[in-house]
Amino acid sequence: MSAKIIDGKACAALVEQEIREEVEALRLRGVQPGLVAVRVGDDPASEVYVRSKEKKAEELGLAGRQLQLPADTSEHDLLEIVMALNADDTVDGILVQLPLPPQIDASKVIEAIDPQKDVDGFHPINSGLLQEGRAALVPCTPLGAMRLIVSAGVVIEGAHAVVIGRSSIVGKPLAALLLQENATVTIAHSRTRHLATLLQSADIVVAAVGRPHLITGEMLKPGACVIDVGINRISDTHPAVRHLTEERQSIARKNGSILVGDVEFESASKIAGSITPVPGGVGPMTIVMLMRNTVVAARRRRGWA
Ligand code: NDP
Repeated sequence: MSAKIIDGKACAALVEQEIREEVEALRLRGVQPGLVAVRVGDDPASEVYVRSKEKKAEELGLAGRQLQLPADTSEHDLLEIVMALNADDTVDGILVQLPLPPQIDASKVIEAIDPQKDVDGFHPINSGLLQEGRAALVPCTPLGAMRLIVSAGVVIEGAHAVVIGRSSIVGKPLAALLLQENATVTIAHSRTRHLATLLQSADIVVAAVGRPHLITGEMLKPGACVIDVGINRISDTHPAVRHLTEERQSIARKNGSILVGDVEFESASKIAGSITPVPGGVGPMTIVMLMRNTVVAARRRRGWA
């Protein structure tokens, strides 16, 4: 058996089309959704992420801009900036790129963001609403993962879903979304015993751990839907490279490293019913869901939900 590959880029393109239509509807009402990304310091990875968010916003007709602050910005100054963005009516979405420098307490900053503009969905009010199953701004990666499960035609209601990882940005919100859709949800983490046994009954498996190839094909229930959130850059000498296809091994050798997920795609795709690749699965969905959240925030703030 060979799994259906869930194409994150194709699914993201469909969501982008929906966003374009929603942006156009807002434009006709005189509104252009505004997204501001705040970046503190010059971490190169954050710079790439923020630039790609800004670019995607512009591409989809949103007003995207970034505020780049020096690495020695104080917590007080950053909080003042967040307050000013909260008060700015042209701003519908605020995101503060993590990680922040050590002098700044990230949770204080997240809690200062107006929950209605919290397009990352990290504010405790939004996570609380999500746990209650009420309308909230939901973190982007879990939203994207859910959309991929639906796009694969998987019946979520009544399914046993095992979410591996319990972070506040991926595992926990995803478990809440699956529960809302009436899955029976098990959350696994680093202290879980007998993960392989648990997975034998899992119709849906979401791996959000950050450990290369933690999940292999033989651990899966035949036909399961497997969503691999993990992004791990491994060197070409890492033992996991041996399990990649010849083509991927040669990419690893050429570049000295390669991106792999938490799932060993080569063995898992022989057992699963559907599976996301890494890269090209969950990754492309995260950024479009951020744009979607900004559009949702723009509507809800005006009472147009
Ligand atoms: P965290 O490090 O915050 O959480 C990892 C989770 O995995 C923890 O709950 C931890 O358990 C659990 N864990 C660690 N080791 C094991 C193990 N051996 N068995 C079972 N569970 C284990 O990571 P994030 O949630 O932030 O991210 C997870 C992965 O997803 C990373 O690879 C990250 O790069 C990727 N990611 C991808 C995104 C995308 O757009 N595609 C977006 C966000 C993240 P415990 O709580 O007990 O420590």
